[in-house]
Amino acid sequence: MTDRKAELAANLAEVEERIAAACAAAGRAREEVTLIVVTKTFPASDARLLSELGVRHVAENKDQDAAPKAAACADLPLQWHFVGQLQTNKVRSVVGYADVVQSVDRAKLVTALSTAAVRAEREVGCLIQVALDAEVGGRGDRGGVAPDGIEELAALVAESPGLRLDGLMTVAPLAGPYAGEQLEAFKRLMDLSTDLRSAHPAANMVSAGMSADLEQAVAAGATHVRVGTAVLGVRPRLG
Ligand SMILES: *Cc1c(COP(=O)(O)O)cnc(C)c1O
Repeated sequence: MTDRKAELAANLAEVEERIAAACAAAGRAREEVTLIVVTKTFPASDARLLSELGVRHVAENKDQDAAPKAAACADLPLQWHFVGQLQTNKVRSVVGYADVVQSVDRAKLVTALSTAAVRAEREVGCLIQVALDAEVGGRGDRGGVAPDGIEELAALVAESPGLRLDGLMTVAPLAGPYAGEQLEAFKRLMDLSTDLRSAHPAANMVSAGMSADLEQAVAAGATHVRVGTAVLGVRPRLG
C-alpha cells in the first residue's frame, strides 16, 4: 500500500468509527447514513484510492476541477455529487458526470438542469439547498433558498423532465440564529424534510454535516454526511 493510500485508509477508518458511534448514540442503524467524501482540490488519484478503499460517493464543488477528475475516474464505481454554487453556464458540463446536484437553489437553475439532463439523456438527482440563515426571504451567504421557498422549488424539480427530487441539503450557517448551533440547525432541516416528504414521499435524502459537525447531523437524522478534511487532510488551497 502506498503511503497516501495508508493515510486515507486510516482517516476513513476514523471517520467510519465516528459515524458508527454517532449512529449508536442516536439509536440509528449504521446503514441509515451514507458517507460522501468531498474530494474538492484533491487529485483524481486520491478519488481512485478512495474507490479502492470502498468509497462509493464523492463530492465536488467546482466544475472546472470536477469535470476532468470525473473523466479520469470514469472507470470507477463512484457516484458524483455536486455541492457548490452552480452557474447556469456550467450546467451542461455538470450534468455530464453528476449523479446528484445538492445545491439546487433557484428556478432558473432547475430549468437549465432539466434542459441539459434531457439533452444528455440522463436523470439527475436534485437536493434543494436550504439557507437556514435566510429564514425570512432572500438567500444565505453560502447559497441556498430560504425555508419558505422550498415548496415551490421542489414542485418545479418534481415536474421537470430529466430531474429527480431527492431531498434537502444544508451547510451549517455561520450567521443568524443557528450560528454555532449545528444540532438545532440540522433539526430544523429535518423538520423541513418532514414537510417536504408529505408532498414528495420519495424525496427522503437529508444531506447535512461535514468534518466538524457530522455527529450533530447524524443525531438530527441526516441520511448523508459530506466529509472532506477528516478523510483527505487539510485542503491545499481554498475550495
Ligand atoms: C467542502 C465542503 C464539505 C466538506 O467540508 P470539510 O469541513 O472539509 O469536511 C461539505 N459540504 C460542502 C458543501 C463543501 O463545500
